[in-house]
Amino acid sequence: MTTIAYVDTARDLGGAERSLIELLAHLDLALFQPVLLHARGAVWLGDPLLPAIGLHEVFPPLGVLERRRDEVAGRLVARLQDISQALRLALGVKRRLVRCGAELVHTNTLKAHLIGGLAARLAGLPLVWHVRDILPPGAARRLLHQAARRCHPHIIAISRAVAAQFAGWPVQCHVIPNGIPLDRFTPGPPSRQLRARLGLRDGVPVICNVARLTPWKGHRTLLEALARLRAEGPAFQALIVGEVAFWDDSYEQELHHLAGDLGLDDVVVWTGFRADVAQLLRLSDIFVLPSENEPFGRAIVEAMAVGLPVVACRSGGVPEIVVHEQTGLLVDPGDPEQLAGALSRLLADPQEARLMGERGRQRAQQLFDIRRVAGQVQQLYADILKLDH
Ligand code: UDP
Repeated sequence: MTTIAYVDTARDLGGAERSLIELLAHLDLALFQPVLLHARGAVWLGDPLLPAIGLHEVFPPLGVLERRRDEVAGRLVARLQDISQALRLALGVKRRLVRCGAELVHTNTLKAHLIGGLAARLAGLPLVWHVRDILPPGAARRLLHQAARRCHPHIIAISRAVAAQFAGWPVQCHVIPNGIPLDRFTPGPPSRQLRARLGLRDGVPVICNVARLTPWKGHRTLLEALARLRAEGPAFQALIVGEVAFWDDSYEQELHHLAGDLGLDDVVVWTGFRADVAQLLRLSDIFVLPSENEPFGRAIVEAMAVGLPVVACRSGGVPEIVVHEQTGLLVDPGDPEQLAGALSRLLADPQEARLMGERGRQRAQQLFDIRRVAGQVQQLYADILKLDH
């Protein structure tokens, strides 16, 4: 049995933690024994899908640090300028790695790559960085580069777009997409009660968006596109699922005001965070995610698995997931007119929309099954550790 130590510094549940939970839930526990090194007060440890594994609290509550990508660079550098704090944390992590008998370290968040990477190096252990972000060129990317030169990680990039930022670096980079539990995200009859509870009218198509309320997810563009669509006349209603996470509650107010100013209050339903995304997708007709430089977009694959056509942006890792004109429509980021045009086309042609959804479902099954993805990650562990399973 090989002990793998996973390191994640986040307090809140983001897509990165959701992906890690899914991976842990699908590891072959006859071969690998996972332990998780986490932050104090990490709320995502309460997720019902997280299997029973060894938990080690090694980080202080880090709150917003991991996710606000515009600010991550500055904050990361500012924090890490406090070298003594970073070293103290790394030494603590190293001691814990030794104590729990770790044979490989797998880091899941930006700060974990740095602290966990240093700790793995101090402990002389092989290291996997699971990279889920596209960092803008600048301080944070340079810092990561320096860390890579010292720690020699094997990198798992969740898309080719994520891998591209490592071109020319002294690392081995493996593109392994995020995996989706296809047994939970299946097509199925929509729940009439849920529809009614959400205040959705019968017989009116539903456009669904699932994303954290954060600027780069493109909610402003979405609202502006919906206003254009409304002016054109096709009947629709929009379900906007997700909450502000990690920082800045004022952004949510801003979006609600914008929807009001655009005259969308009677067609947009804001749900906040929902644990029943699969059910919400089932009562929807089109999925939309106009994010810019999306590293992957689990929410897109979940929608495909449920059989929805996707309208998203040709940016980041999204074109690796959505095949334009086959499983959905791709538009340029930040362009409400194009976005409205794509939505309008699918609303006007439900038959084409259904076909795209069906092809998307097949694609999700072929490429993004969590069992397949967990197998790829375990094969990487076996290759690194020269295990003979
Ligand atoms: N999610 C959820 N409830 C919500 C909003 C999002 O369960 O109200 C889930 C969503 O289904 C997806 C994940 O959070 O599995 C978001 O991952 P994604 O890669 O789309 O975005 P990220 O947050 O990692 O940028």
